[in-house]
Amino acid sequence: MIDQNAPIWNDLHSAGNDADKWLRHLLEEDGDFQENMEILAEDLSHQLSYYSATAYVLPHLAALCPRLSLEEKLFLIAQMGAAVAAESEWPLSPDTEAYREFLEGLEGLRRETKSLIADPHTAALLKDAPELGQQFALSALAILGDRKHAYGLYLLSAYCWEEGHAACACGWNDELLPLTEQPDCLKPTVINPWDGESLEEEAVWFQGLLALAQDEELTPILPLVYGTGVCPECGKREPYWTWLERFMQEY
Ligand SMILES: [Zn+2]
Repeated sequence: MIDQNAPIWNDLHSAGNDADKWLRHLLEEDGDFQENMEILAEDLSHQLSYYSATAYVLPHLAALCPRLSLEEKLFLIAQMGAAVAAESEWPLSPDTEAYREFLEGLEGLRRETKSLIADPHTAALLKDAPELGQQFALSALAILGDRKHAYGLYLLSAYCWEEGHAACACGWNDELLPLTEQPDCLKPTVINPWDGESLEEEAVWFQGLLALAQDEELTPILPLVYGTGVCPECGKREPYWTWLERFMQEY
């Protein structure tokens, strides 16, 4: 963790270039927790971009968690998923201070997220706050699961998860594949029910967390996004995630 007075903070970027200020407010309990947290998270995930301040902020947030109430911890984790997921689009180079900070922060947030998932009070809180529940599930995906998957779903949130991007290596692509209409080119997978504990299978626990929040937006399309695409042009079969990733890189 890099001290907040270290000179590096002057060179770190965020959308408003003031992540250090909002982090300080949070750590010194200066002002409303949720408001400070929201501004900081927006500062680090505006337009789903990656900002250099993120890696340096994460270890401080992880260290703050043990001082927070369960509600506050849930809120913090739910807010930070997009900033964490964005790193998958702009990957940090290993052997850099930024990468070490990112990993240290991520390790801490993983610990906190796992303990929240294991806490029986979490389910009750998420049930009462569906929007927070959906945000928490997406953040858990970014923190505990595949960051690229989470990034793709944050991107598709702009389409309310009704449409998805897809691209095959042969050149076929569709910017607005109608996911809610179960298009012929996507074969759904079967996602088993979650036991409420295991974090082995991403699709299973992610769907389970969304179920806690009684989500009806993302849940219907999960069998497709974890399913298989069959290219309408060349017939090649690939995971839908590969189609989405290729579209994001090439179009
Ligand atoms: Zn094809």
